[in-house]
Amino acid sequence: MEIAGLRLPDGHRFKAPPTNMGIFKRRTVADLGEKKKDMPEGLWLKCPSCGETLFEEALVRNLKVCTHCGHHFTLNSDDRIASICDEGSFAEMDRVLDSVDALGFKGYLDKVKAYQAKTGLMEAVVTGRASIEGVPVVLAIMDFRFLGASMGSVVGEKITRAIEVATAERKPVIIFSASGGARMHEGILSLMQMAKTSGALARHSEAKCSYISVLTHPTTGGVTASFATLGDLIIAEPKCMIGFAGPRVVKETTHADLPPGFQTAEFMKEHGLVDLIVPRKDMRSTLGKVLNYVGRQN
Ligand SMILES: [Zn+2]
Repeated sequence: MEIAGLRLPDGHRFKAPPTNMGIFKRRTVADLGEKKKDMPEGLWLKCPSCGETLFEEALVRNLKVCTHCGHHFTLNSDDRIASICDEGSFAEMDRVLDSVDALGFKGYLDKVKAYQAKTGLMEAVVTGRASIEGVPVVLAIMDFRFLGASMGSVVGEKITRAIEVATAERKPVIIFSASGGARMHEGILSLMQMAKTSGALARHSEAKCSYISVLTHPTTGGVTASFATLGDLIIAEPKCMIGFAGPRVVKETTHADLPPGFQTAEFMKEHGLVDLIVPRKDMRSTLGKVLNYVGRQN
C-alpha cells in the first residue's frame, strides 16, 4: 500500500487520533507563568526567558536564577527557607492542618491528596519560626507547586496563626507570596481568608510590630488583594508578575491597550505599590539589614 509516497505494509491501519489533542487544551493558571512549575528531571533545561540551555546543578547553585539573563525560576518552600534563614533555625508550625471539602466540590480532596503525595507538603504554605542574620522572625512561605498556591481555608488559617504568633512574641512577620489567588474549590470560604489575614495584620500593626511582604512570581487574585500588598515594606523579585485579574481580563473589561511592562514588579515599583526590587542572591542580606533596623525596635 502506498499513500502520498509513503510505503506501508499491506493491511496497515491508521490509529485513531487521541481524543485529548494538544491544540484543544485549555490554558490553565500554570500556563500564565513558566511552562514547568518546577525544575524538570534531568541534567539540562531551557530558560523560558532567554532560551539558553542551562546545567541544572549550576542553576541550583545559583538559587535557580538563570546564569545568562537573571530569570528567576520558581523556588519551592524548602529552597526558599534554605536561601534566607540562618542554618538550622527554621522550626515549622501547624504542619498538620489539612483541608476539608466543605462545599462538596467534586474531586477536590483527591486533588489535595495527589498534591500532598507529589510535593511532600500538607498545604500550599509553610509557616514557622526562624532567624535571619540573627534576628528572630516568623515566616510564611507560599509554595506554587501545591495547587498553584491558591488560598483556601488552611492557607488563610496558617498565615493568620503565623501573624498572631508574631504579634504575641513581638517579632517581625515575613510572608513570601506566590499564588494563583483564591481557591475556587472552597468558594466564599476562601474569600473569607482575605479578611481574616488582613484583620490579623491590622492587629499586628496596632501592636507596633512590623510586617515585610515579599512578592514572587506570580502573585495574583485574592492574595494580591489582601495580605501580599499590606506590608510595611513590600519587596518583589525582579520581573515577577503582580496583579489582581490577568492582563486579558483587564484588557477586555477596560477596552484599553495595556502599557508596556504591565503587571511586572518594575511597573509596580514605578507606580508605588512595590518599595524595593531585590534579586534572590541579595534577599537574605537585604532582609537582614531591614530586620536589624525594625526587628530590634520590636
Ligand atoms: Zn535566561
